[in-house]
Amino acid sequence: MSLSQLARSISESPTLKLNETAAMLRDKGEPVIHLGGGEPKSKAPIDAIVSCSALLRTGDVKYTPADGIPSLKKAIIRYTEEHYDRLVPPENVIASSGAKQSLMVLLHAIVDPKEEVVFPAPYWVSYPEMVKIAGGVPVAVTALDGGFQPTVDEMAQAVGSYTKAIILNSPNNPSGVVYSDEFVAGVVDLCERRSLYLIMDDTYNRLIFDGRTPANCYRFSKDLTIDSSKLVVVNCVSKMYAMTGFRIGWTIGSKDLVRAMTNIQSQETSGPAAPSQWAAVGALTGVQSCIESLRLTLENNRNIMMTRLEAFAGVRAVKPGGTFYCFPDFSAYEKDSQKLSRFLLDKVRVVTVPGKEFGMEGHLRLSFCGTAKDVTEGLERIKWALDPSAPNELYLGNRKLVRDWQ
Ligand code: PMP
Repeated sequence: MSLSQLARSISESPTLKLNETAAMLRDKGEPVIHLGGGEPKSKAPIDAIVSCSALLRTGDVKYTPADGIPSLKKAIIRYTEEHYDRLVPPENVIASSGAKQSLMVLLHAIVDPKEEVVFPAPYWVSYPEMVKIAGGVPVAVTALDGGFQPTVDEMAQAVGSYTKAIILNSPNNPSGVVYSDEFVAGVVDLCERRSLYLIMDDTYNRLIFDGRTPANCYRFSKDLTIDSSKLVVVNCVSKMYAMTGFRIGWTIGSKDLVRAMTNIQSQETSGPAAPSQWAAVGALTGVQSCIESLRLTLENNRNIMMTRLEAFAGVRAVKPGGTFYCFPDFSAYEKDSQKLSRFLLDKVRVVTVPGKEFGMEGHLRLSFCGTAKDVTEGLERIKWALDPSAPNELYLGNRKLVRDWQ
């Protein structure tokens, strides 16, 4: 079989693969705890379902404009005005099949072969592969202090004559860290001085804790009009409304950029699925209390996870300020995160994601998007598997596990 060089250079999404592994083990009746997940457990908002069903009931489900139906664009414009204090015309908005497609089409629209796209480590697993698919070169910036947020200087040092864009994702998948205002302002300034695109991946923007308010990157920008600016904001209904399966995301950018993205999207996939677009209209214009209720559940789960991790000698964990991920350092137990993740799945049936996939070895990404019971039990099992002072036996349901390793 002859496959393209590109196909041979792109690896499978490790997080999606883990979902499959977890589902397969569950189907076999294994008592799996999935701390590797990337989606809230709650149901889609009723307003989304009503709006989507109204279209389905007509049976008239057709192609839509490549950049999204006018009602969805209107809802996105209202969202942007409310949460970013920017009133943008419809020509500056494109709806896509998830933030993933938004990012991919965006990279296709701006990256020329060999151009570099810079982002801090740890980073979302898909950034390097997406940049490569677009023909570019991914450049990850690791903080010298070993933390989860590099300095603006460290970001600037990674920028060279081939750099086309910087991507920031805050709150961050996988670390849960909310980048400081100083850092975001510094990167906005760096991009404006060097005429680089700045892609703000705001997928988790509303899911933040400890009384913080979601950040608005536009307030750091000196570019007065959206059409002269290279600041691009990507968002989606996937996480904040628990609508991952609907696949709706969007991008706000300059008219020229949105036009280019629309051309690419029109050739690649056409507009996103019509029922999903109507579901997103329902979510964005309906009752908004579901976001706060999800946020509170996640904050509570975060607190439970932190309490458990703090009692875990040898594990270093930074308290996540948002998202539903925590990224503790397990290197005191095992430096090879893939080996550790496999070990935890084999021995105690807990799914975790190796830090290596996010550009930081020695860590594991643990999700707290499941139930509080999942978080508690999952960490109890991990502790049992790793802590030599733990009792020799553990019960998973009615199955007795005996620790036969050091
Ligand atoms: N950006 C980040 C940081 C994410 O974590 C994800 C999903 N895991 C996405 C984008 C993609 O979101 P969507 O499901 O809307 O494509």
